[in-house]
Parts: sequence; structure tokens; C-alpha cells
Amino acid sequence: MKLESLHIPGGLRAEGLAQAEVFDITLDEGRVASVLPARNAVARGTLISCPVDAHVHIDKNYSVREVGPANGNLFAAIGRMEERRAQWSVEHIAQRMERAAQQAWRCGTRALRTHLDWTTPEAPRSLPAFEQLRERWRGRLELQFVSLTPLDVFADADAGRRIARAVRQSGGVLGAFVFRNEGLVHKLGRVFDLAQEHGLALDFHVDEGLDADATGLRAIAQLTIARGSFRPRVVCGHACSLSVQPAAQAQDTLALCAQAGIHLVALPTTNLYLQGEWDATPVPRGITRLREAAGAGLRPVLATDNVQDAFYPYGSYDLLETFGLGVQMAHLAPAGDWLGAITTHAAAALGLSWDGRIGPGCPADLVVLAAGDEYELLDPQGRARTVIRSGRVLEQQEQKEQVQ
Ligand SMILES: [Zn+2]
Repeated sequence: MKLESLHIPGGLRAEGLAQAEVFDITLDEGRVASVLPARNAVARGTLISCPVDAHVHIDKNYSVREVGPANGNLFAAIGRMEERRAQWSVEHIAQRMERAAQQAWRCGTRALRTHLDWTTPEAPRSLPAFEQLRERWRGRLELQFVSLTPLDVFADADAGRRIARAVRQSGGVLGAFVFRNEGLVHKLGRVFDLAQEHGLALDFHVDEGLDADATGLRAIAQLTIARGSFRPRVVCGHACSLSVQPAAQAQDTLALCAQAGIHLVALPTTNLYLQGEWDATPVPRGITRLREAAGAGLRPVLATDNVQDAFYPYGSYDLLETFGLGVQMAHLAPAGDWLGAITTHAAAALGLSWDGRIGPGCPADLVVLAAGDEYELLDPQGRARTVIRSGRVLEQQEQKEQVQ
């Protein structure tokens, strides 16, 4: 298969490609065979590697009709989920998870990391549902999970151990919800100990609020650095409070994050909805300091977070929509330079085997966008796409499967 005259954004080009903006690409046996400067250098579209969604919640998506939207109140949303969760069977959760996977797959996503609410030492019902899903999608959509546990639960050493053991047995990532907890550093230290004992990566919901005194991100960075050569891979999502802290303090925290190698994930849709006022037009918007993070040497990520649940009643698993919102919300310009936030940076955060750069020998898991340049990236027509999986156009593959 041949793809002609496509712009490949700079950050998505593998090392060693010829100096050019527009390329002709050949695919063979599910891999990219060659990437050469185009014979016709007028771009007919933009080529990116399949996006990677680093932070979602497929255990509660599509539940807003049942639970109701929480109109910006994060803790009301958490409370409502708590009540409702007990009523959901494994089958019910599995159906909603499948719907998410189908949509992500059609939009071109190649990997998806979901958090699973995990509020007691016992594994939640969503875990067997997730494990079935992961098995069903193996080889197509890479699925990872994170246990999402209130940090205070880790004050109980036995509870923490049980969770870590179950997470390791199921091949997951250990996580916690961290927000202005009492004894925060001590409890976080326990989470790091568990990660070290069980060989687990970490992924936190941290400082999801506009309170300047929420400084979990800083504590996590310091703890990561203190672990020296035993430091786990650490992802931190949200970090909204960074946006309301004094610039010098935020810069200092970001420098620590860079030193610690932390992967910072911003969730524009959910945080626009949850943060800021609801009794008037909101002015503070809850997006973390993405540009300063990039300036400090981090490789920030944009991800989907909630879809049609109490936390965020709208949205979809189309990462390019989230990308477009992030670009506008945080003034990420030029937009083309930020495509790494949903591809290469996200792949690094998840520890994927392919870094998402396009070059000879890489998987032919690609998305051709109609956008001829970065200004069309936020245009629905520019975002029209052809998804290529294992070297074949997705719709053609599916038609063939239906005929068989
Ligand atoms: Zn989240």
C-alpha cells in the first residue's frame, strides 16, 4: 500500500528520515517499509501514528442518564458513583466498556489506559469485566488498567498490600486519588513502598481542584527522586491546582517533575466542566500549566478522562476532539507541534513498545488526517480521517470480515 504526499509533523518523524515536510510512504506486511520525500510536495493530508489515550474511566462511562450530571462538583460525582456502583453487574459494566473500546478503535486509538474505581481492599467488579475486554481486544487495542483508590485507604497497611497484590496479579498499575490528604507524604510513601515491593508502575489522580494548597504533585516528584534507582514509572493526571499557584512555585514543582521523569497528563474536557464556578460564567478553568511543563522539559500528555458520566456528561473517545479542545484551552501553538501529546508522549507515559514515531520498520498503525496543515487540524473536515491498522484501511478490513 502506498500513501502519497502526506505531511508528517516533526515530532512524529523517526530519526534518520530525510529532511522534508511531505513524504511518500509505502506499507508492507503490516509495517512501514519506506518513508521518502514526496515527489509532489504539496501536502494532501497529515500522517500521524495511531493516538494513545493515557487516561480514561471505562468503568463508569455512559452512566450519566442513570446517575445525573454533577454540575461541576467533583465530590458529588464521586458520591453518586459510590452509591450506584454496587448495583452494576459484571455484564453491565462489560457492555459499557465494550462500547468505549469500539469507539476508540474506530477513531484510531491504539492503546487505552483506564482507571478502575477501587475503594476497598477487595477488587471491584469492573476488574473481571476489564480482563475480558483486554483479552477480546488483544492484538488490536492495547488495554491497561490502574487501580483508583482514595489515598487514605493506604493508611491501612494490610489493605494496601491486598490491593497491590491483586493489581500485580492482574497486570495493572497502582494508583491513588490524592487531594489535600492529611499525612499526605507518609501515605504516599506507602504507595511508593508497595510499588517497589511488587514491581508496579504508578499513576495518580493528583490535585484535582483549584486550591493553591493542593501540593500532591510536588510531594510525588520529591518521593520519586528520593527513590533513586528504584524509582517506578510515574504518571500524574490533572494537577489543576498548579494553575492557581504562584508562577515561581509552579515552575519549581515542574522542575522537580522533570528531574523525577514524571509524565504529566491534562484532561481538558472533564476539568473544564468540573473546575471553575457554576453560579456564574467561570473564569479559572482548571487546565494545568502545560506550556510551562513543556518548557521545563516534560513531555505533557492530553487524554480523554470521563465520557458521559456524572464527572463529565458529554464527550467521546475521539482523542482528536480532546486535542482540539486542549489546543484552544491552553493556547498550545503551533498545534502541529503538540500532536505528541496524544501520540509519542502518551506512548512514553504508558511504556508502550513502539514510541509512535513514524519511520521504516515501525508498525503500520497510522491515521491519515484530511488536514493539509496545522490550521485545519481543528476543523471537523480536517479531522476527517482514514484509520490504518496493520497496514490496511480499517473499513476495508471490517467489510472483508463481514463477508467471511
Ligand atoms: Zn480521571
